[in-house]
Amino acid sequence: MSKSKSSETVKVVVRCRPLNRKEESNGPAGSIVQMDLRLGQVILRNPRAPASEPQKTFTFDAVYDANSKQRDLYDESVRPLIDSVLAGFNGTIFAYGQTGTGKTYTMQGVWMDPEKRGVIPNAFDHIFTHISRSQSDKQYLVRASYLEIYREEIRDLLNPNHANARALELRENPETGVYVRDLTSCVCKSIKEIEEVMNVGNQARAVGATDMNEHSSRSHALFLITVECSQPGPDGRKHIRVGRLNLVDLAGSERQAKTGVQGERLKEATKINLSLSALGNVISALADGRSSHVPYRDSKLTRLLQDSLGGNAKTVMVATLGPAPQHYDETLTTLRYANRAKNIQNQPRVNEDPKDALLREFQKEIARLRAQLNHRKWRNKQKKEQVDGEGWERDEDGETEGEEDEEVEKEAEEYVKLEEQRLEREKDAIREDQFLLAEEKQRLLGEKERMMGDLRKEQEATEQLTAKYKAMESKLLVGGKNIIDHTNEQQKMLEIKRQEIAEQTRTEREMQQQMLVQDEETLELRETFTSLQQEVEAKTKKLKKLYAKLQCIKAEIRDVNDDHVTSRQELEQTQNELTRELKFKYLIIENFIPPEEKNKIMNRLTFDPEEDQWKFQPLVPAESKSLQMKKRPTSAVGYKRPISQYARVAIAMGTHSRYRAENIMFLELDMTRPSTASPDHLISFSYWLISNPAQHQNPSIG
Ligand code: ADP
Ligand code: MG
Repeated sequence: MSKSKSSETVKVVVRCRPLNRKEESNGPAGSIVQMDLRLGQVILRNPRAPASEPQKTFTFDAVYDANSKQRDLYDESVRPLIDSVLAGFNGTIFAYGQTGTGKTYTMQGVWMDPEKRGVIPNAFDHIFTHISRSQSDKQYLVRASYLEIYREEIRDLLNPNHANARALELRENPETGVYVRDLTSCVCKSIKEIEEVMNVGNQARAVGATDMNEHSSRSHALFLITVECSQPGPDGRKHIRVGRLNLVDLAGSERQAKTGVQGERLKEATKINLSLSALGNVISALADGRSSHVPYRDSKLTRLLQDSLGGNAKTVMVATLGPAPQHYDETLTTLRYANRAKNIQNQPRVNEDPKDALLREFQKEIARLRAQLNHRKWRNKQKKEQVDGEGWERDEDGETEGEEDEEVEKEAEEYVKLEEQRLEREKDAIREDQFLLAEEKQRLLGEKERMMGDLRKEQEATEQLTAKYKAMESKLLVGGKNIIDHTNEQQKMLEIKRQEIAEQTRTEREMQQQMLVQDEETLELRETFTSLQQEVEAKTKKLKKLYAKLQCIKAEIRDVNDDHVTSRQELEQTQNELTRELKFKYLIIENFIPPEEKNKIMNRLTFDPEEDQWKFQPLVPAESKSLQMKKRPTSAVGYKRPISQYARVAIAMGTHSRYRAENIMFLELDMTRPSTASPDHLISFSYWLISNPAQHQNPSIG
């Protein structure tokens, strides 16, 4: 029971963009999408079907038509999610849909126009406004990362040389789940800073692409925000909650044409939408509820979003549609996809005191720096008091603990100043002292000089420590401090009112939807019949209704079947092409690589499931490297290179000096007189053999 209490479904909202100029000029066909905002329904008309065919109706958590405002979508559907993230839940928003239907418009919008700012800038506002208005005993740390997945490779958009950098790897931690190794994450202290991060990433995205439109429609962009909040609990200790927010702008969902391409292009094409089709499979498996295996591991995207789909997260999916008749098929696919996602159950919970909270480390580091700094200052202060001769009295007052930091700091600075003056005075005194010998004077002056140097070094170190401490502390945001100055009371009230209205609209819609369902169920219970005739009429009516429904469902089954057939054909075609490619590779391997080389290579290959790649095992196991790999002998004095035992013996025997460092056997010649060739000729031939062994093996070269 407790499990079902904490579980909730993925919220799915649908948004349709207005017809654009080109589509309007195409003809009077108009929009094929109708929306019932009150009921949260989308009604889709098939432009090719006869008018008698029933239209398709889908119900969602909310729908937004062409006239919808960015603000409305945010307040109604996104705000509650961001509030949860601020309370320590994981949250994900992803935009799904065909290219050109408004995914990027919904997620980012037009930054310069306050009316058209999308989910991401509004979320920035929301998060930092929340922090500035929270109580002063709360400390926050906000971090942001930005990455994209393109052709199944993860690229860090905040790393300036990301275009040349190696693709990042995914790693799994049993406690915190899947994460991207070495991903840049920037601590952000204000809206301006986090917007800057977004800008940098967007620019990096555009730079890497030759054709931005093409690129953005084929890559997934993930903006990740981590909000850590520390607050004293009832037990007096500080507790940390970590909320992670994924803002995902997916690649265009349209079918990529895979047919007719080969080789590298084919591999590319199969990779481009791998993440998206894997996402579809994950959603299907989860929505089905019966399949035991959810193929998260099939793609980078699904692994990264594992928690958001069926795990520890609250998720909102925004499916975007285009209203033009020529996109009917894609629109229908999107609606089906979205409809399936509605059934996914998540189990969100607050992330309380996770081990990897950076905030805790920051707090510890700040405390350590502070202690160091205080120690230094106290030491200086103490010295000053001793110099002043008042140290003992003050300490006995027991006042030391409660004294203000600032006072300590002031006194410490004063001490340094006084000490410097004192040293100067003493130096002057030494210089003027008539009774000291010149040597003695020099020595004493040198000593004072050294003391001055020490004092300065000490002071510099303190200054550095202070700077480090301040930099560290400024990264933590403290609630109650006004980091946003544009918020006055009126605005605050307005915002609250707007939120209330959004909340009301939401509950109203939910009630309407529930009523609709209940109506259908209870209709027959309420009906009483006075006559047989009436009963027949009522039942006929009902039959007609049910028949229409049946037709709808039959049509749906047909559609889905057709859909499956097409995608199966496509898959088969891809498979055929891949098989052909494979056969080609086999041909090369079998005919052009010597079998023993092939075996050597095969024995060294292992599959790395983490990276989904075949890898070469190192020739020598890593841990025993030092044992097995003998150190290469350094050349001994007088020899050009390491030599063999044979050569050493040869040297000792004092044989032919020219070859004594080589591994060449020097055989005595058989001096018996030959019958045909002259001995001179033979001798020179054997020399030739020894000095040109390579040519000997392959005489045709010579
Ligand atoms: P996608 O990211 O899905 O490929 P875009 O967000 O780039 O699509 O949108 C394509 C075009 O449609 C853009 O010019 C955008 O301004 C416009 N557009 C999308 N949605 C809306 C909307 N709800 N209202 C007005 N214009 C929109
Ligand atoms: Mg886009």
